[in-house]
Amino acid sequence: MGSPLRNWGSGAPRHSLIVQLAEAANCTNCVLSSTRTQVVIGSGEITARVVIVGEAPGRNEDEGGAPFIGRSGQLLFRLLEEELGLVREDCYVTNVVKCRPPNNRTPKRAEIDACRRWWELQRGAMHPEVVLTLGLTATRAVLGVRSAMADLHGRISRIDHLSVVPTYHPAAALRQGPSVVDMMRADFRVARGLLTS
Ligand code: SF4
Repeated sequence: MGSPLRNWGSGAPRHSLIVQLAEAANCTNCVLSSTRTQVVIGSGEITARVVIVGEAPGRNEDEGGAPFIGRSGQLLFRLLEEELGLVREDCYVTNVVKCRPPNNRTPKRAEIDACRRWWELQRGAMHPEVVLTLGLTATRAVLGVRSAMADLHGRISRIDHLSVVPTYHPAAALRQGPSVVDMMRADFRVARGLLTS
């Protein structure tokens, strides 16, 4: 998973998108550039039917160069397979902030705003059947709202050409246990209703 270019998917539909996203590998638009190991743009095909958007890379992702490759990712993709019949290769996976915040702290508003350029490039190129946002930071950044997670999860929002279903971050499920896992499963079943097959 070393090369960010490889992680954007060999089938990325537009050469121009690849060229523009290539600039992100050297991005210094916010302070996170000084502490990251590498920029983590995303993994999978940007043409995927399902897009997953998290908060920011953690330690494993910062070292490995792809999103959700640690314990959170293992739980996420187990639940996705059980509830939606999808594997990682069926999804495009990214974060709203592309560099790891020190000690995995929550990204600051200025960092989310600085990184929005890369998310806007990605969202403009994708036409999924559903976007799953994971956790409050990602959900608020994608939807542009300030509501609480309890009011957002499991509800379908339409933003331009995207249908978005927020759910909890798998790291929260690892911390808090079965009650959060059950809510994620229920939210995934809402997303399943948006899939064509
Ligand atoms: S987090 Fe985003 S804006 Fe900040 S340095 Fe990384 S790629 Fe650039």
